[in-house]
Amino acid sequence: MAQKITLSVASKEQVTDKVYFVTFTLVSPPSIDFRAGQNMMLMVAPGVNRTMSIASPPSEAQSLLMVHDVSPMGPGSKWTLGLRVGDTATIVAPTGGVLSFVESPRKKVMIATGTGIAPFRSMILDYFNRDGQAKIELYWGQRFEKDIYWKEEFDQLQSRHPSFTWHQILSQPTDGWEGLRGHVTEHMFDREKDMVESEFYLCGNKGMIEEVRERLLAHNVPKEQIKSELFY
Ligand SMILES: Cc1cc2nc3c(=O)[nH]c(=O)nc-3n(C[C@H](O)[C@H](O)[C@H](O)COP(=O)(O)OP(=O)(O)OC[C@H]3O[C@@H](n4cnc5c(N)ncnc54)[C@H](O)[C@@H]3O)c2cc1C
Repeated sequence: MAQKITLSVASKEQVTDKVYFVTFTLVSPPSIDFRAGQNMMLMVAPGVNRTMSIASPPSEAQSLLMVHDVSPMGPGSKWTLGLRVGDTATIVAPTGGVLSFVESPRKKVMIATGTGIAPFRSMILDYFNRDGQAKIELYWGQRFEKDIYWKEEFDQLQSRHPSFTWHQILSQPTDGWEGLRGHVTEHMFDREKDMVESEFYLCGNKGMIEEVRERLLAHNVPKEQIKSELFY
């Protein structure tokens, strides 16, 4: 159940020119019970709040990881930029949870743009912690090589779990990029064959979510098998 929580900033790391990892330690209460795929609501100023996905798995109950793209530079971004290790923060959590995995043997196809990867990291780690057996295929779209993080982590997960495959897709890479290029949507529709038998999890910007949803419905994927969280 959502509750007011006091946190302290344990670490803050800038991982790209616009993305920060912030790890909070819970102060009061000292731990949290949540479902992978849920969110936290940050109180960034009196009467102003911003929702952020929880990127860490529920097994790490004494801390919460936030992955924040501060490029919008509104109140939420400025709040994160101003955080210092040791600062205290107030959140309400857990909230939402529309993305949380359905318990089913169906293949889970996940499509993220930008920091839309945050809830998926929590969900994938939690799924393998619980020994989940369904196939998971992750498509993550970013723009440039300099936007990349967590490559090693997802590569390691892929080599440890044969049921997990992931694809990093850059829309504006340099000429030297040897990986996938273009739009995440195209790569997903090119590769996925048995769509009616799969579940789809979409997270990120509105354009991607609307396009994928519309095309999935046109492929006769039942709407109950499409879950999405719109960041902006
Ligand atoms: C359920 C939910 C979960 C979210 N989880 C995350 C998360 O884990 N990580 C994360 O970085 N953000 C996440 N967001 C987005 C986040 O809540 C804020 O919208 C974002 O940080 C901008 O806040 P702001 O106050 O700086 O800018 P605002 O003043 O709120 O927004 C300024 C403008 O920027 C647009 N915008 C917002 N985000 C982006 C973006 N990434 N790129 C380009 N334009 C953008 C807004 O639509 C608006 O037009 C989530 C949003 C929702 C609804």
